[in-house]
Amino acid sequence: MSVTMAQVQYDCLQENHPNDTNSSASPMGPEQIELLMHICKEAKKSAYCPYSHFPVGAALLTCDGKIFSGCNVENACYPLGICAERTAIQKAVSEGYVNFRAMAIASNSEEDFIVPCGACRQVMREFSRDWDIYMTKPDGTYIVKTLQELLPLSFGPEDLKKF
Ligand SMILES: [Zn+2]
Repeated sequence: MSVTMAQVQYDCLQENHPNDTNSSASPMGPEQIELLMHICKEAKKSAYCPYSHFPVGAALLTCDGKIFSGCNVENACYPLGICAERTAIQKAVSEGYVNFRAMAIASNSEEDFIVPCGACRQVMREFSRDWDIYMTKPDGTYIVKTLQELLPLSFGPEDLKKF
């Protein structure tokens, strides 16, 4: 699923390099957060998780206001399974979007907010340290952290440019 969030134009300025550390994005409004929450919950319904039985959905908002959804896709060869967060990112990148504003993640876990695994944090980091990750519970509550908070002292594309 790929939809456009038409309600609001985000001011992730196009001239910002994806790895810029200074946020130029205004806070998301409640309606925008609500929509991301809804889409990540919907995406969870497509999860292919016959081994873990742990469906996860993600909704990735680009700076252009486009939303890409993703779900986990497991494999009988376990290591080949991919998380919902990376599915959404790969869908976006494959369609030419690399500037991200926020991602919301949903699971069925009533007890805990769903958090991205370390591998997903590193893949998110590739595109910026400065975007928001909404980690939700099925009751609609969430915590939000920047990627910088989720993956401090991280290694990214600019580190390779130092040599
Ligand atoms: Zn992951």
